[in-house]
Amino acid sequence: MDIVSKEKRSHNMSRIRSVDTSPEMTVRNFLFKKGLRYRIHYPIQGKPDIVFVKKRKAIFINGCFWHGHSCKNSKIPKTNTDFWKRKIKSNKLRDKKSIKCLKQKKWSVMTIWECQLEKNTMITLNKILSWIKNESNNPRKSFN
Ligand SMILES: [Zn+2]
Repeated sequence: MDIVSKEKRSHNMSRIRSVDTSPEMTVRNFLFKKGLRYRIHYPIQGKPDIVFVKKRKAIFINGCFWHGHSCKNSKIPKTNTDFWKRKIKSNKLRDKKSIKCLKQKKWSVMTIWECQLEKNTMITLNKILSWIKNESNNPRKSFN
């Protein structure tokens, strides 16, 4: 029984690691193919995954587990439960703070969850694309 749970645990952990980066690549590759050029690792609050500097738009692509999404991907492990709860709670607080801060600085922010991308890949990608192309949601303009 111990062996089974150990295997299961390592499977879960490897899954967590892999999904942590691949949804981001899916989005980046898609947008690049559509001819959009963006910045990654752009040094603003919360380090969004994809940033359009001129348009002042930032996208966060969140792993459901690490960012505490309310879906089945984000189940807290049965071991070290308190540790994970605290960890994820603080991640969520940090996310909230970052988004608030970016919006105050007139950035538009979009959050994409890995489960959205997994389940409805094309719908989600096209949603991101039209959000980027839509100039009317540029908060600078709406302030005129
Ligand atoms: Zn999710």
